[in-house]
Amino acid sequence: MDLKFAPADMQFRDEVRAFLDEHLTDDLRAAAAAKTGSFCDLEPTAKWHAILHRKGWVAPDWPTEHGGTGWTTTQRHIFASECASAGAPGTHTFGIRMCGPVIIRFGTPEQKAHYLPKILSGEHRWCQGYSEPSSGSDLASLQTRAESDGDDYIVNGTKIWTSLGHQATHIFCLVRTDPTAKAQRGISFLLIDRNTPGLTMRPIINLAGDHEFNQVFFDNVRVPKSQRIGGENEGWTVAKYLLEFERGGNYATGLWARLSWVRDLAGTTLVQDPDFRRKLAEAEVDVTAVEMAEHRAVSALALGESPGSVASMLKLQGSVLTQRLDELAIEALGTQVSGDDAAAAVAMGRYLYDRAVTILGGTSEIQRNIMARTELGI
Ligand SMILES: Cc1cc2nc3c(=O)[nH]c(=O)nc-3n(C[C@H](O)[C@H](O)[C@H](O)COP(=O)(O)OP(=O)(O)OC[C@H]3O[C@@H](n4cnc5c(N)ncnc54)[C@H](O)[C@@H]3O)c2cc1C
Repeated sequence: MDLKFAPADMQFRDEVRAFLDEHLTDDLRAAAAAKTGSFCDLEPTAKWHAILHRKGWVAPDWPTEHGGTGWTTTQRHIFASECASAGAPGTHTFGIRMCGPVIIRFGTPEQKAHYLPKILSGEHRWCQGYSEPSSGSDLASLQTRAESDGDDYIVNGTKIWTSLGHQATHIFCLVRTDPTAKAQRGISFLLIDRNTPGLTMRPIINLAGDHEFNQVFFDNVRVPKSQRIGGENEGWTVAKYLLEFERGGNYATGLWARLSWVRDLAGTTLVQDPDFRRKLAEAEVDVTAVEMAEHRAVSALALGESPGSVASMLKLQGSVLTQRLDELAIEALGTQVSGDDAAAAVAMGRYLYDRAVTILGGTSEIQRNIMARTELGI
Protein backbone atom coordinates (compact mmCIF):
# COMPACT_ATOMS: atom_id res chain seq x y z
CA MET A 1 0.00 0.00 0.00
CA ASP A 2 1.37 3.43 -0.95
CA LEU A 3 -0.55 6.39 0.48
CA LYS A 4 1.57 9.10 -1.22
CA PHE A 5 0.70 10.46 -4.66
CA ALA A 6 3.31 9.94 -7.39
CA PRO A 7 4.79 13.07 -9.09
CA ALA A 8 2.63 12.45 -12.20
CA ASP A 9 -0.46 12.41 -9.98
CA MET A 10 0.57 15.68 -8.33
CA GLN A 11 0.95 17.19 -11.80
CA PHE A 12 -2.50 15.90 -12.70
CA ARG A 13 -3.90 17.46 -9.51
CA ASP A 14 -2.43 20.82 -10.52
CA GLU A 15 -4.05 20.52 -13.95
CA VAL A 16 -7.43 19.83 -12.32
CA ARG A 17 -6.97 22.75 -9.92
CA ALA A 18 -6.15 25.11 -12.79
CA PHE A 19 -9.27 23.95 -14.65
CA LEU A 20 -11.44 24.46 -11.57
CA ASP A 21 -9.97 27.93 -10.96
CA GLU A 22 -10.91 28.91 -14.49
CA HIS A 23 -14.32 27.28 -14.91
CA LEU A 24 -15.91 26.91 -11.50
CA THR A 25 -17.63 30.27 -11.32
CA ASP A 26 -18.79 31.99 -8.13
CA ASP A 27 -22.46 31.33 -8.89
CA LEU A 28 -21.77 27.59 -9.20
CA ARG A 29 -19.82 27.54 -5.93
CA ALA A 30 -22.59 29.48 -4.20
CA ALA A 31 -25.24 27.05 -5.46
CA ALA A 32 -23.25 24.10 -4.11
CA ALA A 33 -22.62 25.84 -0.76
CA ALA A 34 -26.34 26.55 -0.31
CA LYS A 35 -27.53 22.99 -0.90
CA THR A 36 -28.95 21.17 2.09
CA GLY A 37 -29.79 17.80 0.46
CA SER A 38 -27.85 15.44 -1.78
CA PHE A 39 -28.24 17.47 -4.97
CA CYS A 40 -27.89 21.04 -6.21
CA ASP A 41 -30.73 22.67 -8.13
CA LEU A 42 -31.21 21.63 -11.74
CA GLU A 43 -29.81 24.80 -13.32
CA PRO A 44 -26.32 24.83 -11.71
CA THR A 45 -26.10 21.06 -12.09
CA ALA A 46 -26.89 21.30 -15.82
CA LYS A 47 -24.42 24.17 -16.23
CA TRP A 48 -21.56 22.31 -14.52
CA HIS A 49 -22.43 19.08 -16.38
CA ALA A 50 -22.16 20.99 -19.70
CA ILE A 51 -18.80 22.54 -18.73
CA LEU A 52 -17.35 19.12 -17.88
CA HIS A 53 -18.86 17.59 -21.02
CA ARG A 54 -17.17 20.21 -23.23
CA LYS A 55 -13.85 19.41 -21.55
CA GLY A 56 -14.42 15.62 -21.96
CA TRP A 57 -14.37 15.13 -18.16
CA VAL A 58 -18.04 14.47 -17.40
CA ALA A 59 -17.75 10.66 -17.14
CA PRO A 60 -14.35 9.82 -15.63
CA ASP A 61 -15.37 6.23 -14.80
CA TRP A 62 -16.47 5.29 -18.32
CA PRO A 63 -14.16 3.55 -20.82
CA THR A 64 -12.58 5.93 -23.33
CA GLU A 65 -14.37 4.39 -26.33
CA HIS A 66 -17.66 5.54 -24.80
CA GLY A 67 -16.53 9.03 -23.80
CA GLY A 68 -14.58 8.35 -20.58
CA THR A 69 -11.29 10.00 -19.66
CA GLY A 70 -8.90 7.03 -19.50
CA TRP A 71 -7.73 8.22 -16.08
CA THR A 72 -6.25 5.81 -13.54
CA THR A 73 -8.13 4.98 -10.32
CA THR A 74 -5.90 7.43 -8.45
CA GLN A 75 -6.55 10.22 -10.97
CA ARG A 76 -10.30 9.66 -10.74
CA HIS A 77 -10.05 9.88 -6.97
CA ILE A 78 -8.00 13.09 -7.20
CA PHE A 79 -10.52 14.62 -9.62
CA ALA A 80 -13.50 13.82 -7.36
CA SER A 81 -11.68 15.13 -4.27
CA GLU A 82 -10.59 18.35 -5.97
CA CYS A 83 -14.12 19.01 -7.28
CA ALA A 84 -15.56 18.43 -3.80
CA SER A 85 -13.03 20.60 -1.99
CA ALA A 86 -13.40 23.40 -4.55
CA GLY A 87 -17.15 23.32 -3.89
CA ALA A 88 -18.36 22.19 -7.34
CA PRO A 89 -21.97 21.14 -7.93
CA GLY A 90 -22.57 17.55 -9.05
CA THR A 91 -23.44 16.37 -12.55
CA HIS A 92 -26.57 14.46 -13.68
CA THR A 93 -25.39 11.65 -11.48
CA PHE A 94 -27.97 8.88 -12.06
CA GLY A 95 -27.05 8.72 -15.75
CA ILE A 96 -23.32 9.18 -15.35
CA ARG A 97 -22.72 7.02 -12.27
CA MET A 98 -25.45 4.39 -12.55
CA CYS A 99 -27.39 3.95 -15.79
CA GLY A 100 -24.47 4.69 -18.14
CA PRO A 101 -22.12 2.06 -16.64
CA VAL A 102 -24.96 -0.49 -16.76
CA ILE A 103 -25.67 0.20 -20.45
CA ILE A 104 -21.94 -0.01 -21.19
CA ARG A 105 -21.69 -3.38 -19.42
CA PHE A 106 -24.99 -5.04 -20.46
CA GLY A 107 -26.51 -2.96 -23.30
CA THR A 108 -26.81 -3.91 -26.97
CA PRO A 109 -24.82 -1.90 -29.56
CA GLU A 110 -28.09 -0.08 -30.48
CA GLN A 111 -28.82 0.79 -26.84
CA LYS A 112 -25.28 2.08 -26.37
CA ALA A 113 -25.43 4.19 -29.54
CA HIS A 114 -28.79 5.66 -28.58
CA TYR A 115 -28.43 6.34 -24.87
CA LEU A 116 -24.78 6.95 -24.02
CA PRO A 117 -24.21 10.17 -26.03
CA LYS A 118 -27.43 11.64 -24.59
CA ILE A 119 -26.34 10.84 -21.03
CA LEU A 120 -22.98 12.49 -21.68
CA SER A 121 -24.51 15.61 -23.19
CA GLY A 122 -27.12 15.93 -20.42
CA GLU A 123 -30.03 15.66 -22.89
CA HIS A 124 -31.25 12.62 -20.94
CA ARG A 125 -31.53 12.86 -17.18
CA TRP A 126 -32.19 9.63 -15.29
CA CYS A 127 -33.72 8.58 -12.00
CA GLN A 128 -33.64 5.24 -10.20
CA GLY A 129 -36.80 3.13 -9.86
CA TYR A 130 -35.73 0.41 -7.43
CA SER A 131 -37.50 0.89 -4.07
CA GLU A 132 -41.20 0.23 -3.57
CA PRO A 133 -43.47 0.93 -0.58
CA SER A 134 -42.87 -2.62 0.73
CA SER A 135 -39.46 -3.34 -0.82
CA GLY A 136 -36.41 -1.39 0.26
CA SER A 137 -33.66 -3.36 2.00
CA ASP A 138 -35.35 -6.53 0.78
CA LEU A 139 -35.39 -5.28 -2.80
CA ALA A 140 -35.88 -8.71 -4.34
CA SER A 141 -39.44 -8.76 -2.98
CA LEU A 142 -40.46 -6.01 -5.44
CA GLN A 143 -43.96 -6.25 -6.93
CA THR A 144 -44.10 -3.91 -9.95
CA ARG A 145 -45.24 -6.18 -12.79
CA ALA A 146 -44.22 -6.17 -16.46
CA GLU A 147 -46.42 -8.50 -18.50
CA SER A 148 -45.45 -9.56 -21.99
CA ASP A 149 -47.63 -8.26 -24.83
CA GLY A 150 -46.03 -8.98 -28.21
CA ASP A 151 -42.96 -6.77 -28.61
CA ASP A 152 -43.86 -4.77 -25.50
CA TYR A 153 -44.29 -5.09 -21.76
CA ILE A 154 -47.26 -3.62 -19.93
CA VAL A 155 -46.02 -2.24 -16.61
CA ASN A 156 -48.20 -1.79 -13.51
CA GLY A 157 -47.16 -0.88 -9.99
CA THR A 158 -45.41 1.83 -8.04
CA LYS A 159 -41.90 2.99 -7.09
CA ILE A 160 -41.10 5.27 -4.16
CA TRP A 161 -38.34 7.60 -2.87
CA THR A 162 -37.42 8.27 -6.50
CA SER A 163 -34.83 11.03 -6.15
CA LEU A 164 -34.96 13.77 -8.81
CA GLY A 165 -37.76 11.90 -10.61
CA HIS A 166 -39.49 15.25 -11.27
CA GLN A 167 -36.39 16.53 -13.12
CA ALA A 168 -35.72 13.30 -15.01
CA THR A 169 -36.48 12.54 -18.63
CA HIS A 170 -36.12 8.77 -18.05
CA ILE A 171 -36.34 6.20 -15.26
CA PHE A 172 -34.49 2.89 -15.02
CA CYS A 173 -36.62 0.31 -13.26
CA LEU A 174 -36.55 -3.14 -11.76
CA VAL A 175 -39.77 -4.98 -12.63
CA ARG A 176 -41.10 -8.48 -12.08
CA THR A 177 -41.40 -10.35 -15.38
CA ASP A 178 -41.93 -13.83 -13.87
CA PRO A 179 -44.07 -13.86 -10.71
CA THR A 180 -43.72 -17.64 -10.40
CA ALA A 181 -39.90 -17.64 -10.19
CA LYS A 182 -37.95 -17.35 -6.91
CA ALA A 183 -37.55 -13.69 -5.83
CA GLN A 184 -34.32 -12.64 -7.61
CA ARG A 185 -34.90 -14.88 -10.63
CA GLY A 186 -38.04 -13.23 -12.04
CA ILE A 187 -36.78 -9.64 -12.27
CA SER A 188 -35.88 -7.59 -15.38
CA PHE A 189 -34.26 -4.17 -15.84
CA LEU A 190 -36.17 -1.68 -18.03
CA LEU A 191 -35.42 1.81 -19.36
CA ILE A 192 -38.59 3.90 -19.47
CA ASP A 193 -39.22 7.31 -21.02
CA ARG A 194 -40.87 9.50 -18.41
CA ASN A 195 -43.39 10.82 -20.95
CA THR A 196 -44.83 7.37 -21.67
CA PRO A 197 -48.64 7.43 -21.22
CA GLY A 198 -49.76 5.94 -17.88
CA LEU A 199 -46.63 7.03 -15.96
CA THR A 200 -47.38 9.64 -13.30
CA MET A 201 -45.44 11.12 -10.42
CA ARG A 202 -46.42 12.48 -7.02
CA PRO A 203 -43.98 14.71 -5.11
CA ILE A 204 -42.89 13.75 -1.59
CA ILE A 205 -41.69 16.69 0.52
CA ASN A 206 -38.87 15.69 2.85
CA LEU A 207 -38.32 16.62 6.50
CA ALA A 208 -36.30 19.70 5.49
CA GLY A 209 -39.26 20.96 3.43
CA ASP A 210 -37.64 20.25 0.05
CA HIS A 211 -38.95 18.38 -2.96
CA GLU A 212 -36.16 15.94 -3.77
CA PHE A 213 -37.97 12.62 -4.12
CA ASN A 214 -41.25 11.26 -5.50
CA GLN A 215 -43.59 8.33 -5.79
CA VAL A 216 -43.98 7.03 -9.34
CA PHE A 217 -47.09 5.20 -10.55
CA PHE A 218 -47.29 2.87 -13.57
CA ASP A 219 -50.78 2.33 -14.92
CA ASN A 220 -50.65 0.06 -18.00
CA VAL A 221 -47.42 1.68 -19.20
CA ARG A 222 -46.37 0.19 -22.54
CA VAL A 223 -42.59 -0.31 -22.80
CA PRO A 224 -40.91 -1.83 -25.89
CA LYS A 225 -38.90 -4.96 -25.06
CA SER A 226 -36.02 -3.35 -26.93
CA GLN A 227 -35.67 -1.10 -23.84
CA ARG A 228 -34.82 -4.03 -21.56
CA ILE A 229 -31.19 -4.15 -20.45
CA GLY A 230 -29.84 -7.71 -20.25
CA GLY A 231 -31.93 -10.85 -20.62
CA GLU A 232 -35.51 -11.30 -19.48
CA ASN A 233 -35.51 -12.34 -15.79
CA GLU A 234 -31.80 -11.48 -15.54
CA GLY A 235 -32.32 -8.01 -14.08
CA TRP A 236 -30.96 -8.94 -10.66
CA THR A 237 -27.44 -9.33 -12.06
CA VAL A 238 -27.77 -5.88 -13.63
CA ALA A 239 -29.16 -4.42 -10.40
CA LYS A 240 -26.29 -5.77 -8.28
CA TYR A 241 -23.70 -4.38 -10.70
CA LEU A 242 -25.32 -0.95 -10.44
CA LEU A 243 -25.31 -1.01 -6.63
CA GLU A 244 -21.51 -1.33 -6.70
CA PHE A 245 -21.43 2.16 -8.25
CA GLU A 246 -24.01 3.54 -5.83
CA ARG A 247 -22.11 2.45 -2.71
CA GLY A 248 -18.66 3.54 -3.82
CA GLY A 249 -17.95 7.09 -2.84
CA ASN A 250 -15.76 9.94 -1.88
CA TYR A 251 -16.61 10.94 1.67
CA ALA A 252 -13.47 12.44 3.22
CA THR A 253 -13.35 15.67 1.21
CA GLY A 254 -16.99 16.43 1.94
CA LEU A 255 -16.45 15.68 5.62
CA TRP A 256 -13.41 17.97 5.82
CA ALA A 257 -15.43 20.75 4.17
CA ARG A 258 -18.25 20.20 6.64
CA LEU A 259 -15.84 20.21 9.59
CA SER A 260 -14.39 23.56 8.56
CA TRP A 261 -17.93 24.90 8.03
CA VAL A 262 -18.76 23.91 11.64
CA ARG A 263 -15.56 25.62 12.85
CA ASP A 264 -16.54 28.80 11.00
CA LEU A 265 -20.04 28.71 12.49
CA ALA A 266 -18.60 28.23 15.97
CA GLY A 267 -16.34 31.29 15.70
CA THR A 268 -13.51 31.99 18.11
CA THR A 269 -15.54 32.01 21.33
CA LEU A 270 -17.04 28.55 21.00
CA VAL A 271 -13.88 27.02 19.54
CA GLN A 272 -12.16 28.03 22.84
CA ASP A 273 -14.79 26.18 24.85
CA PRO A 274 -13.08 22.96 26.11
CA ASP A 275 -16.14 20.74 25.68
CA PHE A 276 -16.90 21.94 22.15
CA ARG A 277 -13.20 21.78 21.22
CA ARG A 278 -13.05 18.16 22.40
CA LYS A 279 -16.04 17.24 20.22
CA LEU A 280 -14.46 18.97 17.22
CA ALA A 281 -11.16 17.17 17.84
CA GLU A 282 -12.89 13.77 18.11
CA ALA A 283 -14.71 14.44 14.84
CA GLU A 284 -11.43 15.45 13.21
CA VAL A 285 -9.80 12.17 14.31
CA ASP A 286 -12.71 10.20 12.84
CA VAL A 287 -12.65 12.15 9.54
CA THR A 288 -8.91 11.38 9.31
CA ALA A 289 -9.70 7.67 9.80
CA VAL A 290 -12.27 7.81 6.98
CA GLU A 291 -9.72 9.53 4.74
CA MET A 292 -7.10 6.86 5.45
CA ALA A 293 -9.60 4.07 4.76
CA GLU A 294 -10.51 5.79 1.50
CA HIS A 295 -6.84 6.04 0.49
CA ARG A 296 -6.39 2.35 1.33
CA ALA A 297 -9.34 1.47 -0.92
CA VAL A 298 -8.03 3.61 -3.80
CA SER A 299 -4.55 2.15 -3.36
CA ALA A 300 -5.94 -1.43 -3.44
CA LEU A 301 -8.01 -0.70 -6.56
CA ALA A 302 -5.01 0.94 -8.28
CA LEU A 303 -3.00 -2.24 -7.62
CA GLY A 304 -5.83 -4.36 -9.05
CA GLU A 305 -6.73 -5.75 -5.60
CA SER A 306 -10.20 -6.02 -4.11
CA PRO A 307 -10.87 -3.41 -1.39
CA GLY A 308 -13.16 -5.92 0.43
CA SER A 309 -16.18 -4.52 2.21
CA VAL A 310 -14.59 -1.07 2.54
CA ALA A 311 -17.39 0.58 0.49
CA SER A 312 -19.85 -0.51 3.19
CA MET A 313 -17.54 0.67 5.95
CA LEU A 314 -17.11 4.07 4.30
CA LYS A 315 -20.85 4.43 3.72
CA LEU A 316 -21.53 3.61 7.37
CA GLN A 317 -18.82 5.83 8.89
CA GLY A 318 -19.26 8.65 6.36
CA SER A 319 -23.01 8.93 6.95
CA VAL A 320 -22.81 8.69 10.76
CA LEU A 321 -20.06 11.34 10.85
CA THR A 322 -22.07 13.64 8.58
CA GLN A 323 -24.88 13.50 11.13
CA ARG A 324 -22.49 14.19 14.01
CA LEU A 325 -21.11 17.26 12.25
CA ASP A 326 -24.64 18.51 11.58
CA GLU A 327 -25.39 18.18 15.30
CA LEU A 328 -22.26 20.20 16.11
CA ALA A 329 -23.37 22.88 13.64
CA ILE A 330 -26.71 23.18 15.43
CA GLU A 331 -24.88 23.33 18.78
CA ALA A 332 -22.61 26.04 17.39
CA LEU A 333 -25.55 28.13 16.25
CA GLY A 334 -27.36 27.73 19.57
CA THR A 335 -30.49 29.85 19.77
CA GLN A 336 -29.80 31.51 16.40
CA VAL A 337 -30.95 28.34 14.70
CA SER A 338 -34.58 29.35 15.05
CA GLY A 339 -33.88 32.68 13.33
CA ASP A 340 -34.12 33.32 9.63
CA ASP A 341 -30.53 34.06 8.72
CA ALA A 342 -29.12 32.17 5.74
CA ALA A 343 -26.43 30.23 7.63
CA ALA A 344 -28.94 28.99 10.19
CA ALA A 345 -31.34 27.93 7.43
CA VAL A 346 -28.61 25.90 5.71
CA ALA A 347 -27.53 24.30 9.01
CA MET A 348 -31.08 23.36 9.95
CA GLY A 349 -31.82 22.11 6.41
CA ARG A 350 -28.72 19.91 6.48
CA TYR A 351 -29.47 18.60 9.96
CA LEU A 352 -33.00 17.59 8.94
CA TYR A 353 -32.11 16.21 5.50
CA ASP A 354 -29.18 14.19 6.80
CA ARG A 355 -31.44 12.02 8.96
CA ALA A 356 -31.76 10.24 5.60
CA VAL A 357 -28.08 9.55 4.90
CA THR A 358 -27.98 6.46 7.11
CA ILE A 359 -30.96 5.09 5.12
CA LEU A 360 -30.39 5.94 1.44
CA GLY A 361 -28.18 3.71 -0.69
CA GLY A 362 -28.55 0.87 1.86
CA THR A 363 -29.18 1.42 5.59
CA SER A 364 -26.50 1.25 8.29
CA GLU A 365 -27.86 -2.12 9.44
CA ILE A 366 -27.54 -3.51 5.92
CA GLN A 367 -23.94 -2.20 5.65
CA ARG A 368 -23.15 -3.91 8.98
CA ASN A 369 -24.68 -7.15 7.67
CA ILE A 370 -22.48 -6.95 4.55
CA MET A 371 -19.33 -6.36 6.63
CA ALA A 372 -20.21 -9.19 9.01
CA ARG A 373 -20.74 -11.55 6.09
CA THR A 374 -17.69 -10.60 4.01
CA GLU A 375 -15.13 -9.88 6.76
CA LEU A 376 -16.26 -12.16 9.59
CA GLY A 377 -18.05 -14.86 7.60
CA ILE A 378 -21.16 -14.72 9.79
C1 LIG B 1 -33.14 10.51 0.77
C2 LIG B 1 -33.43 9.18 0.12
C3 LIG B 1 -33.32 9.07 -1.25
C4 LIG B 1 -33.61 7.84 -1.88
N1 LIG B 1 -33.55 7.76 -3.24
C5 LIG B 1 -33.92 6.62 -3.87
C6 LIG B 1 -33.95 6.54 -5.30
O1 LIG B 1 -33.64 7.50 -6.00
N2 LIG B 1 -34.37 5.39 -5.87
C7 LIG B 1 -34.73 4.28 -5.12
O2 LIG B 1 -35.06 3.26 -5.72
N3 LIG B 1 -34.71 4.33 -3.76
C8 LIG B 1 -34.32 5.46 -3.11
N4 LIG B 1 -34.33 5.52 -1.74
C9 LIG B 1 -34.81 4.37 -0.98
C10 LIG B 1 -33.75 3.65 -0.20
O3 LIG B 1 -32.98 2.84 -1.06
C11 LIG B 1 -34.48 2.83 0.88
O4 LIG B 1 -35.04 3.75 1.78
C12 LIG B 1 -33.54 1.91 1.63
O5 LIG B 1 -33.09 0.87 0.78
C13 LIG B 1 -34.22 1.29 2.86
O6 LIG B 1 -35.44 0.70 2.51
P1 LIG B 1 -36.79 1.08 3.29
O7 LIG B 1 -36.90 2.55 3.39
O8 LIG B 1 -37.90 0.34 2.62
O9 LIG B 1 -36.59 0.52 4.78
P2 LIG B 1 -36.73 -1.00 5.23
O10 LIG B 1 -35.97 -1.89 4.32
O11 LIG B 1 -38.18 -1.29 5.46
O12 LIG B 1 -35.98 -0.97 6.63
C14 LIG B 1 -36.63 -0.51 7.84
C15 LIG B 1 -35.62 -0.72 8.98
O13 LIG B 1 -35.34 -2.13 9.13
C16 LIG B 1 -33.94 -2.38 9.04
N5 LIG B 1 -33.69 -3.64 8.34
C17 LIG B 1 -34.26 -4.06 7.19
N6 LIG B 1 -33.76 -5.27 6.83
C18 LIG B 1 -32.83 -5.59 7.75
C19 LIG B 1 -31.96 -6.72 7.93
N7 LIG B 1 -31.94 -7.73 7.06
N8 LIG B 1 -31.13 -6.72 9.00
C20 LIG B 1 -31.14 -5.69 9.90
N9 LIG B 1 -31.96 -4.60 9.79
C21 LIG B 1 -32.80 -4.56 8.73
C22 LIG B 1 -33.40 -1.21 8.23
O14 LIG B 1 -32.02 -1.00 8.49
C23 LIG B 1 -34.26 -0.06 8.72
O15 LIG B 1 -33.77 0.45 9.93
C24 LIG B 1 -34.00 6.73 -1.10
C25 LIG B 1 -34.10 6.85 0.30
C26 LIG B 1 -33.82 8.05 0.91
C27 LIG B 1 -33.95 8.14 2.40
